[in-house]
Amino acid sequence: MIPRVDSHDFAAQAGAALRRPALQRSLAGLRAAMPGLRAAALAELPDYPQLRARARDIRDAAIGSLGAQLLAFESQVTAAGGSVHWARDAEEACRIVGGICAEAGARHVIKSKSMVTEEIALNDSLQRQGLRVTETDLGEYIIQLRGERPSHILAPALHLGLAEVAATFEHHHRRARAGPLRDAQDMLAEARSELRSVFLGADVGITGANFLVAETGSAVIVTNEGNADLAMTLPATHIVVTGIEKVVPTLDDLGVLLRLLARSAIGEQLSAYTTLVQGPRQDGDASGPRAFHVVLVDNGRSALLGTPQQPLLRCIRCSACLNHCPVYTTVGGHAYGSVYSGPIGAALAPALAGTAAPAGLPGASTLCGRCEEVCPVAIPIPDILRHWRTQARSARIGSAWERRGLRVWRQLAAHPWMYGWTLALLARLLRLLSVPTGPRRRLRGLGPLGRGWFAWRDLPAPDGETFQERWRRRRLRERGE
Ligand code: SF4
Repeated sequence: MIPRVDSHDFAAQAGAALRRPALQRSLAGLRAAMPGLRAAALAELPDYPQLRARARDIRDAAIGSLGAQLLAFESQVTAAGGSVHWARDAEEACRIVGGICAEAGARHVIKSKSMVTEEIALNDSLQRQGLRVTETDLGEYIIQLRGERPSHILAPALHLGLAEVAATFEHHHRRARAGPLRDAQDMLAEARSELRSVFLGADVGITGANFLVAETGSAVIVTNEGNADLAMTLPATHIVVTGIEKVVPTLDDLGVLLRLLARSAIGEQLSAYTTLVQGPRQDGDASGPRAFHVVLVDNGRSALLGTPQQPLLRCIRCSACLNHCPVYTTVGGHAYGSVYSGPIGAALAPALAGTAAPAGLPGASTLCGRCEEVCPVAIPIPDILRHWRTQARSARIGSAWERRGLRVWRQLAAHPWMYGWTLALLARLLRLLSVPTGPRRRLRGLGPLGRGWFAWRDLPAPDGETFQERWRRRRLRERGE
């Protein structure tokens, strides 16, 4: 599979992100808080390594029998009075959801946060159909008002500071306020009062699903705000739009994954709300939707089955890999130019149908391996990124300079004597070009070369001998020569 590429340039967008103070403040907060919170939450689980291995096996078993699991799920939903729809791609998924809304005579649709609906651009499609669509997750609501994309899987408005949120509300809300929005509590109250009437007036509620349980036909929806519970119970019709890979065989399996999800995501034992729904309102129920639909979206997922990228389907969208990635936590999500950002986004974007991988995206990683280390389902993201890089090289995607550089590197790496001489020469040259600063010499620039690097940092000059020279001297000493 060869990644398709669009014109979005990761390097250029990353450069712009480095110059946004509000984004940099938010990312500094993320770096400071999230790794510690996750580590503390996982420290409460003495059996974490075993649990992680079990979670990986559960996801692999579900994906290995995907067809059977989904059919079992469908039969349970149907038995409970709901309907399951199968969508091959984004266009078909949007058409199905649009059809359900039309049949329900809907004019106003509310949504809770769902990355799959972002992936298929559902809002645009429904709005073209003349429907009013309102996001009800606070972060999604804010970025909808601003016409932006999410910049984080769980915190879609992470890129914004409080001042930007206040300005957005003051610009978009018609309700006259007694005074300016001073703090987060003011803004929360403002959003809540705006959204209350929206919940009560909606005809259709659309949610995603964190998991689907095959044995019970349950869609499992995990949130911290409770907005999804209102979106799925108040309107007459509830539509779940989710990826086919979200299925797990049993409730026991779900328990294992839930123990890891919130701990990996936000450093909590559980999210505030974990709701299992499995059909429309039954006789005697006090509330709930009259109609219940699940739209299962493929959109490139089944093409991963049986390929080295299949482990991507294990992902439970916890965002731990984003929160620990030195690249994501420096440039934020918008630089990636794809719906899914961070390491999982860089690995997933080239695989999704209808999503051209932005140029340079598989290169948006230091391959340090932290993403794989913190992933609760052990997805080998660095290996998958290496695979996409190889594919991109074979398809001659990327700059000519990069390809020439790699050709030179290949020659050097294939001839150890040439490698040793070149390194020794380079080390001496860099030392010559460096300037003394404190205890050691540092390079401050190389003319037109390495402008991106030297715009933000310098480089310690190589000191003394190269490793190979030292090794050779040691061997000679050992032999008494
Ligand atoms: S790849 Fe792993 S760490 Fe990243 S979002 Fe998915 S499950 Fe979480």
